[in-house]
Amino acid sequence: MATIKRKKKKKKIRLKEGFKRFLVYSFVIILIAIYAIVEGIKVGKIMEYHKTYEYKINQIGYPLEEAKKISSTLSDEDLELILKEEKYNETYYKILSQKYFLLKNYHQYLDYYKEHDDLPLEKIIALVNTHASTEWYSTTYDTDINQGYLILVNKFYHLKEDYERVDLEPFSLSYSYGKYGENKAAKIVVESFDKMQQDVKEKFNVQIMINSSYRSYKDQESTHKYYGDKTAARPGHSEHQTGLGIDITSIAHPGGKAFGESEEGKWIVENCWQYGFIIRYPAGKEDITGYDNEPWHFRYVGKQVAKQIKDEGITFDEYYAYYIEK
Ligand SMILES: [Zn+2]
Repeated sequence: MATIKRKKKKKKIRLKEGFKRFLVYSFVIILIAIYAIVEGIKVGKIMEYHKTYEYKINQIGYPLEEAKKISSTLSDEDLELILKEEKYNETYYKILSQKYFLLKNYHQYLDYYKEHDDLPLEKIIALVNTHASTEWYSTTYDTDINQGYLILVNKFYHLKEDYERVDLEPFSLSYSYGKYGENKAAKIVVESFDKMQQDVKEKFNVQIMINSSYRSYKDQESTHKYYGDKTAARPGHSEHQTGLGIDITSIAHPGGKAFGESEEGKWIVENCWQYGFIIRYPAGKEDITGYDNEPWHFRYVGKQVAKQIKDEGITFDEYYAYYIEK
């Protein structure tokens, strides 16, 4: 009896040891398996990554940051073209990083840059976005008249012959030239100008005046015939037809130029945004607007947009292209 018990005990001990060994082996095998899987995934991931444009572009010399941005922005077709060059070209990233970059214009930016690499990229972006990279009036578009106070009219966007705002109102004769009703504009323009002329009068003791405001297609036809393309817009292309554009002068400094150089004129250029106006054809932007600096021509766009345009230092054409039309 005693030997049988001992044998059984021995057997039990052997079994226990066998089981322990089994556990240890299993544990090691599991560890190896996990390691292999993890490594396999890693290798797989690396192989996958090597197939990406980010990696390939990085490999031909683009810094990783640039490779990331380029590969996540451009189409496969355009990325292939970059890869074909087989060397780093800083232009792509610089173009893509421009504040007003629009993907739809990418090819035009490149084409225009090829012919004008002396221009800053910022300018190239602005010219292409606004169509000003092409000849004035070379392609024209019916403008979207459902844009409220943000209707765009310039040398590329025009109004139809019969377009006329329904809310045109006459300016008071105390601050507009001509007969009553000859100078009129959108209701909000009349109200906003009224506030501005009051403030200017208080500040400078000067009466500012409306020289010209709404002009119909027909009016513009005769204006354009008289002045020509150099200074006058073609009919349909005048901002005055929107009922949102006004030419301002002052009794103390009559005429556009003298007004522009006067204290009140300079104050208005700086502060008109508070009344919802912008200076529409500013100095230094002639190549974008197609007009010489007109320190007398103001355009109503509403306070918020006027402030943004002033803060960003852009023209309405640029604003429209980037924020409205996109
Ligand atoms: Zn004007």
